Amino acid sequence: MPASVNIPPIALPFISDRAKSTLGLATQFVDEECIPAHDPFEAQLGQGASRWEKKPAILEQLKVKVKKLGLWNMFLGQHNGAGFSNVEYGLMAEYLGRSHIASEATNNPGPDTGNMELLVKYGTESQKRRWLDPLMKGKIRSAFLMTEPDIASSDARNIRCEIRRDGEEYVLNGSKLWSPGAGDPTCELYIFMGRIGGISSVNQYTQHSVILVPANAPGITVHRMLSVFGYDDAPHGHGHITLHNVRRLGPGRIHHSMRTIGAAETALEWMISHANDERKKTFGRSLSSHGTIREWIAKSRIEIDTARMTVLNAAIRIDQEGAKAALREIAAAKVLVPRTALRVIDRAIQIWGAAGVCQDTPLPGLWDSARTMRIVDGPDEVHLQQLGRREIQRLGKGVQEKLERQKREADRLLSSYEGSLAAATLRGYNKANL
Ligand SMILES: Cc1cc2nc3c(=O)[nH]c(=O)nc-3n(C[C@H](O)[C@H](O)[C@H](O)COP(=O)(O)OP(=O)(O)OC[C@H]3O[C@@H](n4cnc5c(N)ncnc54)[C@H](O)[C@@H]3O)c2cc1C
Repeated sequence: MPASVNIPPIALPFISDRAKSTLGLATQFVDEECIPAHDPFEAQLGQGASRWEKKPAILEQLKVKVKKLGLWNMFLGQHNGAGFSNVEYGLMAEYLGRSHIASEATNNPGPDTGNMELLVKYGTESQKRRWLDPLMKGKIRSAFLMTEPDIASSDARNIRCEIRRDGEEYVLNGSKLWSPGAGDPTCELYIFMGRIGGISSVNQYTQHSVILVPANAPGITVHRMLSVFGYDDAPHGHGHITLHNVRRLGPGRIHHSMRTIGAAETALEWMISHANDERKKTFGRSLSSHGTIREWIAKSRIEIDTARMTVLNAAIRIDQEGAKAALREIAAAKVLVPRTALRVIDRAIQIWGAAGVCQDTPLPGLWDSARTMRIVDGPDEVHLQQLGRREIQRLGKGVQEKLERQKREADRLLSSYEGSLAAATLRGYNKANL
């Protein structure tokens, strides 16, 4: 059965025949090449310091296959990317999300996808030659350095690492946490966010800027690698970095959600496979014949499909009107998708019993990624606050006027029945309740 049969009907008019056939190839590639490569990938990474020294050879072998299949740089619509729209890539990213190595094998990994989009949009020609071209070829990787210790980084106005002008150069100082790829032997570019002109500057919305810094610039120290629920995420990793007088010459957004839908689908497959396992009967019946389990499976299907619609809806809006016009849809996807995935993965863990919490299934790893998604891309609370504020502005005045208009019209209609007992009673009821 071709993968395109699973495209929700609402999205079909936006999907080209070329995208449908690439989706089929991506599905096959993830199922038949990436997932079987998970264990060899871990084995080649090894233990201890060697995990950070070189990339597992199996990853490089997968990259060679990907280029022949035409699955390279699927995320990028322009600048020699594969030329797909956001909604087309959204469907492909869902499959990439089923494997923790598929995104890098196809050169669609975060944060590099966002960093490449940034360079396409704002980079100078020489920055594109120096950084974008090798990133697009998958020869190097990049990091985005925003989060800092000792401040609340979900509010970007707090970012305080210093960017100071000194003649023809900028001097960078400060400390960064969660710097992705800090352990990766191929990570050569840091995109550093800092504050120009010190904390006392007047307008807190115009003080920040980003600067491209080579990872090996003098003055940069990687102090330690941070783990995520105990996983080191090698060979990529998340670093604690300081910059001390680093000198530079003067001068993504919903992909995570798409991949997280894929993680939820994987959990549902594991849930169903265990529920149907005849060796795992309880009280004389297979798990899949118990009403509770069927309900969990049904709810998971409904919830995943709802979340997928939300993501595709955001992608269509971005394609048609640009990311700024789609802020509401993007925020909704960012909040809804990880919560949905966590519910589904949690049910899958529960069905698997003790095996669900150990290394025998991918479920703990899927849960770990989905849980961090509620923080990594900006905490839920910040997206909800912004979405709520925009919704109040959008509907606020208009809705109040509309309700008052409706009330006046109801009063007018009721007054034409004046004298009728029933109408008078109803009118009293309406007034008391409005
Ligand atoms: C696996 C992983 C990868 C990451 N990758 C990167 C990366 O590539 N680059 C990078 O720079 N950073 C990265 N981060 C860091 C991440 O972006 C930050 O952790 C995130 O922005 C939140 O900042 P904070 O940890 O300082 O939390 P804080 O800003 O201190 O927020 C703490 C909590 O306060 C609450 N809160 C905040 N604002 C509000 C509000 N308005 N209303 C109600 N509650 C609120 C939320 O519950 C929030 O979780 C990564 C983190 C992880 C775990």
